[in-house]
Amino acid sequence: MDVRDLQALRDAIRCIPDYPKPGIVFRDITTLLGDAPIFRLAVTELARPWDETVIGHVAGIEARGFILGGAVAHRLGAGFVPIRKKGKLPHETVRVAYSLEYGLDEMEMHRDAVRPGERVLLIDDLIATGGTAEAAVRLLRSLGAHVEAACFVIDLPELGGARRLEALGVPVRSLVAFQGH
Ligand code: AMP
Repeated sequence: MDVRDLQALRDAIRCIPDYPKPGIVFRDITTLLGDAPIFRLAVTELARPWDETVIGHVAGIEARGFILGGAVAHRLGAGFVPIRKKGKLPHETVRVAYSLEYGLDEMEMHRDAVRPGERVLLIDDLIATGGTAEAAVRLLRSLGAHVEAACFVIDLPELGGARRLEALGVPVRSLVAFQGH
């Protein structure tokens, strides 16, 4: 991506200080999604390294990962798989618990959503501590999928999420980085 495109992508992300609580800067991608050329740029750049690779499914993490993941899947000619908060999927599921800042949460996917050995790309809007993405990797691997990479529009490198995923053997692609939380 050239420097101008990168800057345009950064500028399209709205930063809201002290949301949802003091000290957090919320990185709001609704402004990026609402801007047609920038949305297309983000999807093209997320998918680009796999343009020539057979990807079985793109897995998106609820909820912003659904928007980006659906578009990336369409571009790559892959199927899309939703990873959802517990209790939302109607068929037989696999479930994993993961820790949030306060307490535990659980996420699920359909047991028959991916085939053993197939290549899956994981997508979300942002990686912070990496706890959410790590749980998604564990779910996908529990079904035998090969997690080809995890892709994010935004990385918050100070929170160490990318290192955490790479330590699990999952390559990480992110388009822009912001300092702080
Ligand atoms: P983590 O599990 O710490 O990597 O957090 C990643 C998840 O929380 C993603 O689904 C993000 O959408 C959301 N998230 C965490 N921090 C922020 C932030 N500063 N702005 C927007 N979303 C965030």
